[in-house]
Amino acid sequence: MSAERLGRQDLHCHTNMSDGDLTLERVVARARELGVEVGIADHVSSRNTERFVSSEARVRAYLDALEDAPVFRSGEFCWCDEMWKELPAEVMDRFDYRVGSNHGFYLPDGTMGSPWWQELPEPWSGRPQEVMDVMVDNLCEMVRTMPIQIAAHSTLTPPALFGLENDVDAWWTDEREDRYIEALEESGVALEISNRYRLPHDRLLWKALRAGVRFSLGSDGHTQGQVAQLGWAAETARRVGITDRELFAPERRRGGSSQR
Ligand SMILES: [Zn+2]
Ligand SMILES: [Zn+2]
Repeated sequence: MSAERLGRQDLHCHTNMSDGDLTLERVVARARELGVEVGIADHVSSRNTERFVSSEARVRAYLDALEDAPVFRSGEFCWCDEMWKELPAEVMDRFDYRVGSNHGFYLPDGTMGSPWWQELPEPWSGRPQEVMDVMVDNLCEMVRTMPIQIAAHSTLTPPALFGLENDVDAWWTDEREDRYIEALEESGVALEISNRYRLPHDRLLWKALRAGVRFSLGSDGHTQGQVAQLGWAAETARRVGITDRELFAPERRRGGSSQR
């Protein structure tokens, strides 16, 4: 491993144990080729019972598979799913670290919002700023409540909003950024720089850095072309002044460490 960790550690990779294209072996081989250490964070969620690691028995089998590989053992848990609340502590403890994702957020009318919304549905269509506020509230609650170490692609913002105004400042106002940064800082959850989604934007990263927040780089790779690729994320981290010192540092709890 190179002396510098930044750009050489991808803590958010998928395999075909959830919705990735590649087997674990191929992800490991690809990462080795690129000289990158990887953490496998397949979807641990009941939102897709076909493709995701969606039951306790499956989680155990998934962790067994990771234990035999030279990777960090992780999982990407949905904020909008119950599995992170239901798995026994003894199973949760087997992860080297856990990733949490806002794949859906709770709206006050009891429905779910989506960070991928192309259009705001009724009754939210005329209320974009309200949707944005609720989404930021959800992010703050997510990092304060979920037993996670990394918040993945968390500033993903519905395209519907950028359709109304294509300016990050219109949605990520100073007040909203500060609110989320405070929640990150208080919870100690690391903010992921997502190579896949090219998030977060520089101003938020820069403010988070000054506030003492920690960071993590993730490809969110699902394909041969994506896994262990951190070019944009590393360049962004360096541009805002992030160094190894500010990176979340995972530790192998057992298993894989003997095979490094
Ligand atoms: Zn995700
Ligand atoms: Zn992911």
